[in-house]
Amino acid sequence: MPQIIFATSNAHKVQEVAAMLGNTWSVQGLRDHPGVTLPEETGTTFEENAVLKAEAASAALPGLWVLADDSGLEVDALGGEPGVYSARYAGPGATDADNRARLKVELAKLSPQVFTGRFRCCLVLARAGRTQHITHGTVEGRLRLQEQGTGGFGYDPLFQPDGFEDTFGVLPSEVKNQLSHRARALAQMRDWMAAHLA
Ligand code: IMP
Repeated sequence: MPQIIFATSNAHKVQEVAAMLGNTWSVQGLRDHPGVTLPEETGTTFEENAVLKAEAASAALPGLWVLADDSGLEVDALGGEPGVYSARYAGPGATDADNRARLKVELAKLSPQVFTGRFRCCLVLARAGRTQHITHGTVEGRLRLQEQGTGGFGYDPLFQPDGFEDTFGVLPSEVKNQLSHRARALAQMRDWMAAHLA
């Protein structure tokens, strides 16, 4: 089976991508390549940051196909925050729990309303330091003020995708892996890879 590296040290993301690509690709994360370090995310868009990560990691892993994503949560009532700063919303070194806590505080400051938002993901495929293809995926939903469930990672226990009564923290991973922002970006990438890398 051909090998592809998903340039992240987030084990949850590697698991999701492996579950989606696992029939055709052997997926490894950066924990399997500890010599590779990712650049600082200095971009102001998901795409800029995903390109930065994919190109840097693929330059450090010659001969290998490398995927990188940049993703985050946009909340309409917060003007699109936390957006590209989702991973560090509560400050540098923040944990997922810290970030969720800050989000709950920010939402509680606003008058009661339905909080609409979305997860976004940009996925970049690179080889030898050069971008080969870029895809985007989005999942729309609502933010809850109380956490529900412990599955997934990040803001999953607060995000209820449209068409469901439960958050990604409760929904089975098979459901998240069919409709998430990452799944949608990956489905397009998988089609492109099947057409171009056969
Ligand atoms: P990245 O690693 O720079 O892409 O940061 C993404 C951040 O956005 C994560 O740390 C999470 O806080 C959030 N995020 C991205 N994708 C998801 C998801 O699928 N579920 C929950 N939170 C997510």
